[in-house]
Amino acid sequence: MTGSADLPVRDDLRGQHPYGAPQLDVPVRLNTNENPHPPSAALAAQIGAAVTSAALGLNRYPDREAVALRTALAAYLTARTDGAPALTTEQVWVANGSNEVLQQLLTAFGGPGRTALGFEPSYSMHRLIAAGTSTRWLAGRRDEDDFTLRADDAAAQVRAAGPDVAFLCTPNNPTGTALSLDVVEAVHDAATGMVVVDEAYAEFSASPSALSLLPGRPRLVVTRTMSKAFALAGARVGYLAADPAVVDAVRLVRLPYHLSALTQAAALAALDHADDLLRTVDLVRGQRDRIVAELRARGLTVVDSDANFVLFGRFVDAGAVWSGLLARGVLVRDVGMPGWLRVSAGTEDEVSRFLAALDAVAPELARPSAAQSADPSALVEEQPA
Ligand code: PMP
Repeated sequence: MTGSADLPVRDDLRGQHPYGAPQLDVPVRLNTNENPHPPSAALAAQIGAAVTSAALGLNRYPDREAVALRTALAAYLTARTDGAPALTTEQVWVANGSNEVLQQLLTAFGGPGRTALGFEPSYSMHRLIAAGTSTRWLAGRRDEDDFTLRADDAAAQVRAAGPDVAFLCTPNNPTGTALSLDVVEAVHDAATGMVVVDEAYAEFSASPSALSLLPGRPRLVVTRTMSKAFALAGARVGYLAADPAVVDAVRLVRLPYHLSALTQAAALAALDHADDLLRTVDLVRGQRDRIVAELRARGLTVVDSDANFVLFGRFVDAGAVWSGLLARGVLVRDVGMPGWLRVSAGTEDEVSRFLAALDAVAPELARPSAAQSADPSALVEEQPA
């Protein structure tokens, strides 16, 4: 059978594997940090009506500049983010998920002969989109014990590497770690290239947004998404806020008519009911805090989280725990960090089922004091050195 490597594919793509969290049809899906609460029936009806109306005009291309949607997103950010400046339509850009926004940014500011840096472990798509745009990746480091990032350390790494694009992710996926604004400021001041702050999980966080730092900093970009707190992952809507010059640069590389009229209509209808969509944020945060407390009570190591997911471990064999949970109908994420797993905050019932499955996989985890004397091949915690 012919494989992609048999084709004249780019040398740097040969042998690579596509990004793909498993999409499995299991009862409890806690592996891609979605909001577990679907849009209400009333909101689904509003979206349906908006999409029907847009469908009547589908013989025409959509608004290439998505002006109405960008205006609504600018108003949302301005009204709903503490400390945010008054943002204009010209400062906001929107695409099919924040992944596409990130790709457009790297196409415009990265590319062959250029570099991008991220502080790992972080969102793996930063590295993968860099690869896809032939941008050389520079792996920055975080504190090895608690995954925090200090302003002076981050700035020194950026100063030494001089990347064309520096990524910050707050709260950081997969660790849940939020950054304080002094880290963003320090990285920005140390950088000569663009600084992209990925705030996909901002609505779950108590930490201030980097939006407040935008005025006077044209190399700073904040990316957001409707996939998480907004419970709209299936609609594929992500956006950025930055100086209008950044939006102009991105418009040089975006495909014309990249955002369908149906997507624009659905997102606009959803934004009209932002309260309805965001009503579940507190519930999700409550379940996140419950997961942290429950896992710590089991003697596990749990990273403080400001997002809607929790990184926990450390297991001798995280893969075995992952498989054991899956066998019990619970899908979590193996993020490729030895000893660790990541679980999204689901509904109360889903979290209960996750905890019950974990207890069934490793009964000794419920009795940390007995853990050391348990079967050495069992899935017990391994304290970091
Ligand atoms: N940034 C981060 C940190 C994420 O975790 C994700 C999704 N997992 C994204 C961006 C992309 O999300 P979307 O394309 O759905 O907006």
